[in-house]
Amino acid sequence: MSSSPHKTLVYIISAPSGSGKSTLVNELLKSVSGLEFSISYTTRAPRGSETDGRQYYFVSRPEFETMIRNDEFLEHAEVFGNYYGTARRFLQEAEKNGRDLLLDIDVQGAAQIQKKIPEAISIFILPPNRKTLEERLRKRGEDREEVIQRRLVTAAEEIENYGRYNYILVNDRLEESIEILQSIVRAERWTRSGDVLPADKKTIIEMADNCRLANVGQRLQPILGSFKIGALESARPS
Ligand code: 5GP
Repeated sequence: MSSSPHKTLVYIISAPSGSGKSTLVNELLKSVSGLEFSISYTTRAPRGSETDGRQYYFVSRPEFETMIRNDEFLEHAEVFGNYYGTARRFLQEAEKNGRDLLLDIDVQGAAQIQKKIPEAISIFILPPNRKTLEERLRKRGEDREEVIQRRLVTAAEEIENYGRYNYILVNDRLEESIEILQSIVRAERWTRSGDVLPADKKTIIEMADNCRLANVGQRLQPILGSFKIGALESARPS
């Protein structure tokens, strides 16, 4: 192990709704130590079994606006008509505790974090194609047909931003996706720690590298095509 003090790594995960992100994030947090989830503030109402202080802190619009004025947010954005924001204190606490931080935020929030913390590691999760996303949204049984159609349009708009992320993960088979996500977190920790990589860990680095923006090119074409999105002329890896 390196003897240098721990520098908190910030991982950003974004995905269109219905792409299985929450499951992946929960599994990742269960299986990787030293990684803290940043619980966002939101003005939307709790859904199902959601409880205050677990998935989100649920606050009123005036409360949220007071927090904006007090500069309590690292980033915030309006998504589907509600405010969502990442409190600065989560990053401060992670730094104090020598842990890494995971942010589950939308593409607008991701752009703000990338400006403030350019070394943040960003991961975009994609569904295998539009049809699968549509089926997943229907299966959840949460939304009416017109909402599902709106979510699909929004999904395409969000997916257009994939080129701003370091890693692209196509969530086809859950078990495999979890393994890939773990690999990305571990590979980044190793590379940045400057430690010598044990030979038996090379496959982890390879698995992560396989998802780097610069390496996913051809594999994305059919997915983007299903959402009627053209390929980027030059994807911008960082
Ligand atoms: P949901 O309401 O379905 O939980 O989340 C809707 C969207 O808001 C998701 O894309 C989620 O990633 C995003 N989101 C959740 N928390 C934050 C946050 O703190 N900041 C931003 N910018 N987006 C967030």
